[in-house]
Amino acid sequence: MTSNSCFEALPKPNSFAQLPPEFYTRLPTTPLNQPRLLHASAEVAALLGLPLEALSTPEFLAVVSGSEPLPGGATLAAVYSGHQFGVWAGQLGDGRAHLLGEIQGPEGSVELQLKGAGMTPYSRMGDGRAVVRSSVREYLASHAMQGLGIPTTRALSLVSASNPVMRETVETAAVVARVAPSFVRFGSFEHWASRKRPDHLRTLADYVIDRFYPDCRTRIAQATAPAYEPYVQLLRRVVQRTATLMADWQVVGFCHGVMNTDNMSILGLTLDYGPYGFMDGFDARHICNHTDSNGRYAWHAQPAVAHWNLYQLANSLHEIVPDTEPLQAALNEFEPIFLEAMQARLSQKLGLGRWQSGDETLIDDLWSLMQGSHADFTLTFRQLAYAPGLTLASQAQIEHDLGQTVNANLTPFVDLFVDRAAALAWLEAYAKRLGPEPTQNWQERVAGMLAVNPLYVLRNHLAQQAIEAAERGDAAEIARQMKALRNPFVAQAGQEAYAAAPAAGAPHLEVSCSS
Ligand code: AMP
Ligand code: MG
Repeated sequence: MTSNSCFEALPKPNSFAQLPPEFYTRLPTTPLNQPRLLHASAEVAALLGLPLEALSTPEFLAVVSGSEPLPGGATLAAVYSGHQFGVWAGQLGDGRAHLLGEIQGPEGSVELQLKGAGMTPYSRMGDGRAVVRSSVREYLASHAMQGLGIPTTRALSLVSASNPVMRETVETAAVVARVAPSFVRFGSFEHWASRKRPDHLRTLADYVIDRFYPDCRTRIAQATAPAYEPYVQLLRRVVQRTATLMADWQVVGFCHGVMNTDNMSILGLTLDYGPYGFMDGFDARHICNHTDSNGRYAWHAQPAVAHWNLYQLANSLHEIVPDTEPLQAALNEFEPIFLEAMQARLSQKLGLGRWQSGDETLIDDLWSLMQGSHADFTLTFRQLAYAPGLTLASQAQIEHDLGQTVNANLTPFVDLFVDRAAALAWLEAYAKRLGPEPTQNWQERVAGMLAVNPLYVLRNHLAQQAIEAAERGDAAEIARQMKALRNPFVAQAGQEAYAAAPAAGAPHLEVSCSS
């Protein structure tokens, strides 16, 4: 083992490794040939307590490429099961992920996991590897989601290697180092329920509660509550986080692509970036995963699928919660929480202030308008923020009040729609809803809207540019995109191309489960 490793001094509680041995297999990673660091994140390194200088050391590369174990860590692959595309798939597990260990960082404990560092007993038909294409996509997406303020697993580093990896064609191996407080999934619970092991299920639930949801135990109202009450509370917390996560996804046009129960985080994080996509032109039925021919995971279906997945989690917890009624009650909380979260986010996006009756119709009309023209998702909301609303007639008044020409041009918004007259008619209804108001109010409104309607999202064609450059060994494009994506609400000089919709007639990029 390398001495003086930058990782050496960091405390490693390795709590997952202290669970019963049936929960995982301890095994080393399989090193790659000539690993090369393409990018590392100082911000994520700080979560581990690593200084910036550490990222350029050979010891850092050795660990994040899987060439050497994490000093003081406990390398393992975890077992879980799951439902894939609505069908029970039985045992799955970390087929190409290795948990290196848990590090006590300055803001709390986090786990460090490698994706693509070799085969495990759960690899099934897979090779335990990941390719540059999928790894660049996971790396950039993790940072983009963080920039958008959406709960996500984090990405510490991206490494490529010289090993060829067979996919539809021969591609190049890569490894992403991911960081999260935990990688436990709904499928981790389903695993023990399907095996009829209530003892292990209870151990897992207790582990998750003690570490991440301690108030499930401490905040129980009545002293007479049944012993299983903390597990009901756990389900409630996961319902809550998952429902708000769905609202977060929906309002930026994010499609996960593979919402199988094994890809659902027990912490409500966006987990396992595969054939995900940020929508360009709006289509409620948008399917980002080429393999998902039935559209099970289409954009409009995501909240219902999340609810279905939570139902599977509840079903698993039923092994240790004999009463179905409290589990059902917890599941019933999903819809109101999701709807309230959507209303809150949409009223911010439209600068509506408090939600009023009739706002539902206003928003539904906007979705229909966007659908009819396949208007660009991101630009529609962004341009709406630039059009300070009010009444169409009041722009002259605004300019008079301000004594300057304002960026209050409605044309860029209207230009996003084929049916310009319908767009203008909608703007009129919108302006009526906002009502007349003093200049200062609309300035605040615009600022508020710009702060929640991103200019930069990780569009597929951008990811593709970064991938093609990385495959040629050039990581500069990743760094450039990261800059925009980490601060997606603020227009940055020279980054205009990252805000643009794909050129008309640009080839459609197929993204599938193969990664
Ligand atoms: P996913 O839906 O991509 O998150 O993966 C589903 C299951 O397949 C998980 O158990 C993964 O670990 C496993 N898997 C995916 N790709 C590979 C691979 N190349 N080698 C081994 N296992 C894999
Ligand atoms: Mg997965």
